[in-house]
Amino acid sequence: MRGQYDYDFIIVGSGFGGSVSALRLTEKGYRVAVIEMGRRWGPHNLPATTWSLPSWLWRPELGLRGFLCVSPFRHVLVLHGNAVGGGSIVYAGTLMVPPDHVWNEGTWAGLNDWQRVLPEHYATAKRMLGVTQNRILGPADHRFKEMAALVGAEKSFYTTDVAVFFGNDGDPPGKLHPDPYFGGDGPARNSCIGCGGCLVGCRYNAKNTLDKNYLYLAEKKGTQLFAQTKVVDVRPLDGVEDGSAGYQVRMVASAGRREPAPDRLTCRGIVFAASSLGTQDLLFRLKDRGSLPRISDALGRGVRTNAESLISIRFPSAQIDLSQGVAIGSGIYIDEHTHIQATRCPKGSDTVALLSTAMTQGRRDWTRAFVWFATLMRLLLSQPWTTLRSLWPIGFATQTMILLCMQTIDGHIDMRLERPWFWPFRKILRSAGEPLPAFIPQANEFALKAAKATGGFPMSATVEVLFNIPTTAHCMGGARMARTRAEGVCDGKNRVFGYTNMYICDGSMLGANLGVNPSLTITALSEHAMSHIPAAAQQRWTQVAA
Ligand SMILES: Cc1cc2nc3c(=O)[nH]c(=O)nc-3n(C[C@H](O)[C@H](O)[C@H](O)COP(=O)(O)OP(=O)(O)OC[C@H]3O[C@@H](n4cnc5c(N)ncnc54)[C@H](O)[C@@H]3O)c2cc1C
Ligand code: SF4
Repeated sequence: MRGQYDYDFIIVGSGFGGSVSALRLTEKGYRVAVIEMGRRWGPHNLPATTWSLPSWLWRPELGLRGFLCVSPFRHVLVLHGNAVGGGSIVYAGTLMVPPDHVWNEGTWAGLNDWQRVLPEHYATAKRMLGVTQNRILGPADHRFKEMAALVGAEKSFYTTDVAVFFGNDGDPPGKLHPDPYFGGDGPARNSCIGCGGCLVGCRYNAKNTLDKNYLYLAEKKGTQLFAQTKVVDVRPLDGVEDGSAGYQVRMVASAGRREPAPDRLTCRGIVFAASSLGTQDLLFRLKDRGSLPRISDALGRGVRTNAESLISIRFPSAQIDLSQGVAIGSGIYIDEHTHIQATRCPKGSDTVALLSTAMTQGRRDWTRAFVWFATLMRLLLSQPWTTLRSLWPIGFATQTMILLCMQTIDGHIDMRLERPWFWPFRKILRSAGEPLPAFIPQANEFALKAAKATGGFPMSATVEVLFNIPTTAHCMGGARMARTRAEGVCDGKNRVFGYTNMYICDGSMLGANLGVNPSLTITALSEHAMSHIPAAAQQRWTQVAA
């Protein structure tokens, strides 16, 4: 029976949810394949700075085969990772547990006694991802602490918990250590040198990316990973609609794949782990073309961000290098709902300047573009030299503090698969619903005050100002956990309603705004889901959603 199928489980995507699933299912004795459309990355091919667009950005049709994908929608600009290791290659490594109240909100409220069951899985996730307190506070973090005092928020200043290897106290930066995490089963690691480059991919073997923990161990134990391979179809085998006879998965090469890989595989069970956007896009297409018609109509509903806003303060005459430290080194809470983290890019990664402009106040609507124009003219007349130097890209990374602002206030949009009027030849994912706030007035006030006191030039994100849309690196929801198929796409154990042995383990499952960086929660919830799947020897293949 087992031999009829190429694999027991196929996992679509190798990010946080996919890597956890791969390791745990392989450990339970299953034959597992992971299909990942991105490339493998390491010190030999990671870009030194963001000027290397072809190895930084992911847009294969334009010859860009990097690991950061920028997906524009009418309501939001989404940044997400495409790589072996998913978003971990590009992430800052900040891993936080959300406040308890989020479990009583949204579609997952009441599905489980989350506050009782999850601590065990958060602990496992932290251990596996090597979470520790940041030990390298850079000049930007020290300045941020002084700024917090200006608004009476110094008591809330904290040093971030990050997935970075710092070595032993007193070690020189970059020292090589034999596997420090998995008793010799994992790879050797170097201690962090505090170059601030985590968002461009760590070239120094210090950031704990998934290809150094979950995925590394999964492959070592037998998981087979097909990189640069995109899943385009999943359908039940033998016409058995609920998938209890297994699935056929169809794939195509992506991003210049050279290694041979099959174009069709069969499996008994499947895990969708292609990220919030990736899973929504794939499931919409599979429902639309009749491959998986039973997927809930709630697909695409309740897509959330962390209500983020990107602000920066540039010091064009700075003598100190503000790019030193880890990418997100510290944070503060300026009020009950508003959380700000001190963020940086590595020396030379000045393209980020092209996404920033003079700080613009105004209303949260289209009139802001006019306010921006008036503000820019006023600044050019009143302080032309400072303004021009602040807008000039060269030197941006070493002279700028980037402030990642997040709010817990809830707001969501929906996603749909539609044929746009401007390109009617193909259906694409499009956003719908009420506009999301494109800036956080409280965070702007903070930046203006802090810049004034420290001689900096406050800046807003260009897309927020000109197009009145926010940018998010934390897209969540869209295939949410819920009590019923009418409300969500999967249940509290991540089983997809309407199908057998089908799971969703990625950011799309999240049922509420976490208010903090989401990867630790995606990891913990995936650990929880996998803990309910029996070992291969006991498996009866009847896992259906309640
Ligand atoms: C610049 C940046 C910084 C960030 N920093 C942090 C941070 O510090 N802390 C934090 O918690 N979060 C951070 N995030 C967010 C974090 O990266 C995501 O929340 C997380 O990666 C989501 O995990 P996931 O399991 O949903 O899927 P992902 O990690 O996004 O992985 C999904 C994978 O599926 C693949 N895929 C998609 N479709 C297909 C298909 N059809 N076939 C095959 N493969 C497919 C993709 O290529 C991708 O590799 C950051 C994100 C960005 C962009
Ligand atoms: S600061 Fe530099 S060395 Fe340290 S984890 Fe980030 S990229 Fe790697």
